[in-house]
Amino acid sequence: MLKIYNTLARKIEEFRPIDPSASSGQAVGIYTCGPTVYREVHIGNFRTYIGADILRRVLMYNGFRVVHIKNITDVGHMRNIGNAHHRQQIDPIIEEALKMGKTPEEIAAHFTKIYLEDEKKLNILPATVYPKATDHIKEMIEIIKILISKGFAYEVGGTVYFDVKKFKNYGKLSGNTLSKMDNLLKAVRVSLETDKKDSIDFALWKNAEKDRLIKWDSPWGEGFPGWHIECSAMSIKYLGDTFDIHTGGEDLVFPHHEDEIAQSEAATGKKFANYWVHSGYLLVDNEKMSRSKGNVYTISDLEKKGSDPLSFRYLTLTVHYKSKMNFTFEALSAAQTALNNLREIVLAYDAPKIGCAEYEERFLEAINDDLNIPKALAIVWELVKSDYPNSAKAETLFKFDKVLGLDLENAKNYIKKTEEKIPENVQELIVQREELRKKKRYHLADQIRHKIKKMGYEIQDNDDGSMTIKKSTDVPLDNILRYLVF
Ligand code: AMP
Ligand code: ZN
Repeated sequence: MLKIYNTLARKIEEFRPIDPSASSGQAVGIYTCGPTVYREVHIGNFRTYIGADILRRVLMYNGFRVVHIKNITDVGHMRNIGNAHHRQQIDPIIEEALKMGKTPEEIAAHFTKIYLEDEKKLNILPATVYPKATDHIKEMIEIIKILISKGFAYEVGGTVYFDVKKFKNYGKLSGNTLSKMDNLLKAVRVSLETDKKDSIDFALWKNAEKDRLIKWDSPWGEGFPGWHIECSAMSIKYLGDTFDIHTGGEDLVFPHHEDEIAQSEAATGKKFANYWVHSGYLLVDNEKMSRSKGNVYTISDLEKKGSDPLSFRYLTLTVHYKSKMNFTFEALSAAQTALNNLREIVLAYDAPKIGCAEYEERFLEAINDDLNIPKALAIVWELVKSDYPNSAKAETLFKFDKVLGLDLENAKNYIKKTEEKIPENVQELIVQREELRKKKRYHLADQIRHKIKKMGYEIQDNDDGSMTIKKSTDVPLDNILRYLVF
């Protein structure tokens, strides 16, 4: 039985799907707050998306069918900019469009495409639907109309606010309840909206300034939706009024998820999501990522530095999803080495046959214990080092990989890719060594060979004038690359 930490219950609970026949009939519904598509999504965001992917894979491993909805936020996720004296709210997609001389739609399409490519590189299973916020304005307006008619929302000058005090259960997710109003006020970002009844009220619909690039007609005039209502509208549309699991990073608990609950439950009169699963933050060198520090890394940044994106996936698997994760390039490089070793091991295996039940039992226990993937990974390494026949290890390892998502069945493709990338400094030394050999300065050439060895590469000179270069680990012969120098 899968157990998972539910932020709403503040404890680990047994997972019980809404439909008990979910393993055969109805699916388990998961909603994941998706990316805001104005820039390349960073590795912190991807830590959270890999977390949701693991949860989905664990559910599938347990025999559940899963419907996974991940929205694309292409409007309305406002950001505060400026200083204490002059604050301003901007829509980063419109801002980027103005900067690049493109339309907001072009910016959103461009970064959505990159996002989906990055997901693929990280072997994140594609969502069942990726609904775009801009395609669901009608559904948002409908919910807002219901909230106004039920007395949970009010309009001021074309902007509609949710009346937080009317929703008695406010704070049940984050603990920022109405009775703790002081904390709540501190927790709410400095508000720029001065026309609302109470500073904790939040906008469901915003009046559009005259020259705003994207806006829609509504019963309250031209405007655009608030970010929170987008997720309520899209999750309810695709998963129903009540669904199983809602995921996101820990920073979304308040106010985003608290507000999603308030407006959804006020509108439907039903419980919104049964389980709330939040992943911990990713830090870089123990610091929060920020543009000013220049430590906001994307998947393409990692690739440019010679890492393969799955090494980042491997790295995230080494940390429990709820803990903070400290990203460093040293840790990434260690993850790459571990993953490459695993790939090389798998390549030497025979065809899969009858697995190792003992390990499979322990693996299932670990993943079902609030997704203890670091423990599951340790079991993987115990398995590969065990005395079981290779064919049994292969059978079990490929089964485990349905959860880990390291694409081990295609290990061969990756070995080639990483092996081909001999670092530039090593390549330069290889050329230098060849020059020295041509000049018959064998002693110096040998010194360079030693230097190269220290850098992790071994050179073997062949009779036909070619040379073979391999990594200094015990790589099976068929992985060795032949580099013809002349
Ligand atoms: P955003 O595009 O800011 O809405 O973030 C998308 C997702 O990434 C949300 O679930 C956030 O909680 C999550 N997220 C943002 N920054 C980080 C981080 N540094 N580490 C982990 N998750 C993050
Ligand atoms: Zn959301």
